[in-house]
This record gives sequence, C-alpha cells and structure tokens, in this order.
Amino acid sequence: MLRNFSSMREQNTHAILSQIINHPEISRAEISKQTNLNKASVSEIVRNLIDEQYVVETGIGKSSTAGGRKPILLKINKKAGFSFSFDVRYDRLSYMVTYLNGEVLTFESVDMNIDQSNIVSVVENIIRNFQQSMENSPFGIIGIAIAIHGVVSKNKIIFTPYYDLSQIDLANELEKRLHLPIYLENEANLTALAEASMDATHKNLISVSIHTGVGAGIIIEEKLYHGFEGRSGEIGHTTLYPDGIACPCGNKGCLEQYCSQSSVLNAYRNAMENELLTVDNLIMDYKNGENIAVKIIEDFAKNLSIGMTNLMGTYGPEIIYINNKIIKDIPSIIVKIREHLDQTMYKKIPVEISQVAQQASLYGATAMNIQNFLGVKTFNFFN
Ligand SMILES: [Zn+2]
Repeated sequence: MLRNFSSMREQNTHAILSQIINHPEISRAEISKQTNLNKASVSEIVRNLIDEQYVVETGIGKSSTAGGRKPILLKINKKAGFSFSFDVRYDRLSYMVTYLNGEVLTFESVDMNIDQSNIVSVVENIIRNFQQSMENSPFGIIGIAIAIHGVVSKNKIIFTPYYDLSQIDLANELEKRLHLPIYLENEANLTALAEASMDATHKNLISVSIHTGVGAGIIIEEKLYHGFEGRSGEIGHTTLYPDGIACPCGNKGCLEQYCSQSSVLNAYRNAMENELLTVDNLIMDYKNGENIAVKIIEDFAKNLSIGMTNLMGTYGPEIIYINNKIIKDIPSIIVKIREHLDQTMYKKIPVEISQVAQQASLYGATAMNIQNFLGVKTFNFFN
C-alpha cells in the first residue's frame, strides 16, 4: 500500500512540475484546476518542491474576478541545475548549456574530426572545464544529452555511416568517468523533439533533417517513435531510384544520395566542374537564375517531394517540418514540394520550413534532458 501511495504521490509531483515548467508563471489554484488535484495536496507538494529547490515563488498574480487575495505565482528554479547537450558530427562538435528552464547559458561549435578515439576525452574535458567555474546550484549538471548522426537504440549507437562511434559504448564510458546521467539519441529524433516543444498544435508531426545525410524524427501522439532498434525515420536510406547512385550503407539509389545537402552540393560541383564551390555559391547562382543551379534545385525539390509523399503515406502526420539551410534560403523549394503534393492524395497536409534554429538537435537534447530530470512528458521552450 505504502508503495502505491508513494508512486501516486510521485505521479502527482510530476503532474505539478509539468504545469510549472510549461507555464511562464502559475498559481497553486491554477495548478489545482489543470491537474484536478485538490488545493491542499497541491499546496503540500509545492511546499516540498520549494524546500527541495525545484520551484521558487515569484511575484503576485491577478486576483480572480470574484475578488479575494491575489495569488502568489510559481516558477521553476532555473538556477537549480544545468542541462548539457551535444551534437556530434564527424567534422564538428557543438554543445549547449542551459538552465533548468531551458534558457541558454552557453553555445559553442568547433570544427574538428570526431571518432571513437577522441570522443570520450573531448566531452569529458568540456564537462570538467564547465564544472570548475560552475555557479553553485543544488543539482549541478542534471544530465548530458548527445545527438548522434546515426541509428541509436536504448542508449547504444547501432550504426553510424560517417564515423565509427558504433564501435564503443559511449554512454557507459562517459558515465564511468563523469558519474552523470548520459542520454544518446538520434539527431533527427532530437530535432523532432525540438519541433514538438515549439508546436503546441500538432500531436503527430514529422521533422526532416537534411544535412550530410537525411533523417526524419517521427512524433506520434506527442511521443517519439523509435521503431525496432531505433530504425524508424531512416528515410535517407529508402530507395528513390533502383540501381541509382551507390550509397555507403550498401544499397543503391538511396534518397540521401539525391536529397542530402552534401549530395546536392556534389551534383552542383560536378555540373560546374569546380570542386571549390559552396552551398552559398549554389544559392546565389539559383537566385541569379543561372541554368545549372536552377536545374539542380528543381531536381532537389522533385526528389524531396517523392520522399515527403512516401513519409505521408507511411506515418500519416498532421504536418512535416523540414530543417535545411538551402530550403531556408530558397523558400520557393517548399512551394515546389507543395505543388507536387497537390497532385497526390496528401494535398491538405502542410509542409513547412522548420520552426527551430540551426541548433535544433541541441534544443531537442535539452528538452529530453529536462523531461528526464523532472519526470515530465512534455516541455515547451520560450515560456
Ligand atoms: Zn543508403
């Protein structure tokens, strides 16, 4: 019985924390209304949360229309702890530190080669440096969430096409050295979490990340869908053209060979016979109406449309967000994709440019870290 009582109590605590973290400020009365818990229980749990330094009282709210005492408002004690998130690419390491409410404290991005021989010590050094000058706080670093550009399942890296991190037990190695919770997750999945944490309207959404590769994060009924061994959303390796361009995954004609930013850039470089051209050159040439650039972008839009149609048919999302620099700079690509979708049965499903910044995976990792620490199911940024 005691056990049930304590787990019920724990559930109520998480429900109350969820209200506090997802509102800029909230009164005890409003929490009681939103959670259907009686006012006495709310007051008691809130008192404990204040004693344990999760929550602080702030300002005075408006009194209700019926008059009466103005309520004291509550918010998360942002300085109680720090969330660390990393994005690990084969050629770049980025990280973000936030307060417990998701407010960004530090963001760094360094070009460097990452592989199994240096990843553990690189991450460890960054954490140790931060700890040396860290402000005093009751919880310190609440966790380290790491975005991996590859397949991740149950905190293990299963497959990474562009680096060899699947050869080591990264979470375990870091836990042994740092004694902190370590969470590994696929980069596209984290981008989807970031998208969901900024979209209060849609419970079923897909976020497509287009960088070196192409991956999709799938949110079904507000939850990340991983599939068997974390293989869901690996749309980069679905076949677009049988017997097409060979892919490092072993197959031919993968979507990634036509729609990743690297493959689009390669196609442009090859067509222009100039290896030094950049994505910015491509974008500028397109805007100037240069024939080759226009053809490359039109092919990109067409190929991506096929990919989006396949995603819609498979998962039935309410909306698809695309995160990519070329599309951000050339929004008419989205118009071309919608025109293609208008020819299909998915004409009413919106495709939009991502709502989140370039550091999407870091925001998603932050959301995951804070959700895990507070035991809450959703986390909204910018409260
Ligand atoms: Zn492939």
